[in-house]
Amino acid sequence: MYLDNSATTQVSEEVLNEMKPYFRKEFGNPSTLYSIGRSSKNALDQSRQKVADAINANPDEIIFTSGGSESDNLAIKGLAFKLRKKGNHIITSNIEHPAVKNTLKFLENLDYNVSYLPVDENGIIKIEDLKNAITDDTILITIMHANNEIGTIQPIEEIGKIARENNIIFHTDAVQSFGKIDVDVEKLNVDLLSLSSHKINGPKGVGALYIKKGIRLEPLIHGGGQEKGIRSGTENVPGIVGFAKACEIVSKNLDKNYKKLSSIRDELIDKVLSTIPESYLNGDRNRRLPNVVNFRFKAIEGESLILLLDAKGYQASTGSACSSNTLEASPVLTALGLDPVDVHGSLRISLSPESEEFNIDEFVEIISDVVSRLREMSPLWNEDTDYEGIMCSQHSDGCRRC
Ligand SMILES: *Cc1c(COP(=O)(O)O)cnc(C)c1O
Repeated sequence: MYLDNSATTQVSEEVLNEMKPYFRKEFGNPSTLYSIGRSSKNALDQSRQKVADAINANPDEIIFTSGGSESDNLAIKGLAFKLRKKGNHIITSNIEHPAVKNTLKFLENLDYNVSYLPVDENGIIKIEDLKNAITDDTILITIMHANNEIGTIQPIEEIGKIARENNIIFHTDAVQSFGKIDVDVEKLNVDLLSLSSHKINGPKGVGALYIKKGIRLEPLIHGGGQEKGIRSGTENVPGIVGFAKACEIVSKNLDKNYKKLSSIRDELIDKVLSTIPESYLNGDRNRRLPNVVNFRFKAIEGESLILLLDAKGYQASTGSACSSNTLEASPVLTALGLDPVDVHGSLRISLSPESEEFNIDEFVEIISDVVSRLREMSPLWNEDTDYEGIMCSQHSDGCRRC
């Protein structure tokens, strides 16, 4: 049972079938004039329309990229370079995806100033902090829609309104929210919005950046002038066709999937918190994606938990240090104010509408078992300790400390 759909998803059968003709039969370069070239160009145009429809944009506001990371880089660097003369200040949150965070670190070395807004213990920024951070030099606000580790949703509409009032461009990384909750560029008041295909059962290595009409970016990839000169390079036609199909499918099923996934999510949260002592939910109980939950269990190590769950056939992920490339405990969980020791005992479970039936009772039984076994070996575990939790109010009736 694959429970790590925030990391990536399986390409759906429908998407794969849609892509197949574009590898051999329809292999033309969309920039050429003869018929197989035109046929690829048509596929590209139709795909652009489908992606635009899925976020309530116009097709000429969609630029295809190699994925979420490139879209974030293009939005942030492209805007920062373009507006360098106007100002050098950028505002973000301290729980952004590395594609945003490390892009901003790079800009800091080029003499841009970045303000990192803190989040509260539930993972949400405070609007007051945003207002206070704005200066005459602020050219960009970049704050993610939904977080990839804890699934919490930021108040994007409100942030966008403030950005507009202050004449500041607003970018949001909607890679995790898209396909899970409504992503409508008009309602969200955004100027730039990043999407990725492989998080919505599309192929890897393709994504898009929404660029509101009138906003100009400095290109990062120079070449033959494809994608209106903003992103040169022969388009990944099969990937784009697959991505567009995936967009069409998630849009059509949005409400149905939201109901299905959020009901699984809520049952899972209730059962885990009431069955396993000293277990907590990371991130806001309600303002979260329907498909992501992040728990922490006192006195255990995420890596061991992941390996034992894998042995039982469940694949999930942890914010613990050794599972990351940097050997650093998750900065997102740390930003919630959690003790690093607690961050190590975290577990992220992320579902997909394509997931096969998920037996919650069986899963809770297994995880409860695994957690008990690990605690028996843990020098940190003492059953009589009253561990200092900060989120007890989120527990359901079964919590022995509430
Ligand atoms: C996965 C992810 C990305 C990166 O997307 P890629 O297509 O893998 O480059 C960016 N932002 C968020 C929030 C993500 O979850």
